[in-house]
Amino acid sequence: MARGSVAIAGAGLTGRLLAWRLLRAGVPVHLFDARARSDRDHAAGVAAAMLAPYAELVVGDAALFALGEESLATWPRWLDELRTQTGRSVDFRHEGSLVVAHAPDYPGLDHYADLIRYRLPPDKRGEVRSLDAQGVAALEPEFAGRFARGLWLPQEGQLDNDELLGALEAAIVPDMARVGGEWHERCTVAAVDAHTVRTADGAVFEADRVIDCRGVGAGWPGVRGVRGEVLTVSCPAVALRRPVRLIHPRYMLYIVPRSGGRYIIGATELESADTGPATVRSLLELASALYSVHPAFGEAHVTRIATSLRPATDDHQPVWAQRDGVWHLNGLYRHGFLVAPAMVARAETALGAAEVSP
Ligand SMILES: Cc1cc2nc3c(=O)[nH]c(=O)nc-3n(C[C@H](O)[C@H](O)[C@H](O)COP(=O)(O)OP(=O)(O)OC[C@H]3O[C@@H](n4cnc5c(N)ncnc54)[C@H](O)[C@@H]3O)c2cc1C
Repeated sequence: MARGSVAIAGAGLTGRLLAWRLLRAGVPVHLFDARARSDRDHAAGVAAAMLAPYAELVVGDAALFALGEESLATWPRWLDELRTQTGRSVDFRHEGSLVVAHAPDYPGLDHYADLIRYRLPPDKRGEVRSLDAQGVAALEPEFAGRFARGLWLPQEGQLDNDELLGALEAAIVPDMARVGGEWHERCTVAAVDAHTVRTADGAVFEADRVIDCRGVGAGWPGVRGVRGEVLTVSCPAVALRRPVRLIHPRYMLYIVPRSGGRYIIGATELESADTGPATVRSLLELASALYSVHPAFGEAHVTRIATSLRPATDDHQPVWAQRDGVWHLNGLYRHGFLVAPAMVARAETALGAAEVSP
């Protein structure tokens, strides 16, 4: 590899974003992934990609909230750069999200609102807004007469992860031809050290810096897999504009609209490293909760059932750290899209992109 080069193991969310940023700074990048570039069965490709700093306070704290706010401000700039570079747009919406509950679950809705307000910095508590039936219907007319109470989190957003991953690929490949480096797809990494990537087929690549972005596959101590199952449905009969969460005593459902009448329905959250297909129980729970939100979803076509593992730390904080000379970016759990720009910016700074440029 060229002097000044960086090797990144893992081309999911963090690996792709970091590769793109480093290449833009003129750093040659070798990117390794066990999957093909177009494969979307990693966490990055299965996620709903909600950008939800408020809702994530249920599992997070003020530090995570701050990373989320920073990233929400960064995404529009980075997506503009990507569009200029590749001509590809990524659907990004910053129009808030809605939380609803059926009448028996109002105590759960109240607790949810209290918990978020409690964990928010005091000056942000007004951004958790309680709604009556009219307020719910004004935001999402499909829910007129269906939900008498709700919660509006106006500062939340979402992006289309499939479009993002495609745009990053379209930016990275030509940059590698120009700056240096290669995308080693379908290439399983067996081991990494400070200057070496060893692949499962016995090849050895050297680089000035090695960064491990393999998520659960990295084997980082303290990072475990949390299984999530999601459905994608096509249902043009229902027109929702923003992500909707349904409070439920057994499972939290979300419905995230995508262009063309598609919706991502998720997600189970199971303490399991099982990567097998979705279970009957999970499908029944997700589908019946969906149907309870709007009966027209009963006729939706299921176009995808997907499963992946979220890389989670015990304290739900993302990790950017060096161990035995290898840099690790990991632990982005269920808020990877929410915090990735802030974490990748920290990585760029720590790596001193200008310093490692040839
Ligand atoms: C069901 C679900 C819903 C989610 N919803 C949201 C959401 O709404 N909002 C949000 O912000 N986040 C969400 N997330 C979380 C987000 O997807 C993750 O935090 C993020 O994708 C983690 O990024 P990563 O790069 O660390 O891991 P990944 O995106 O999983 O990428 C890891 C990459 O490493 C590769 N790899 C692993 N092992 C090896 C190996 N040995 N050799 C070579 N390559 C290897 C994999 O193939 C993969 O491409 C969700 C996740 C799931 C599963």
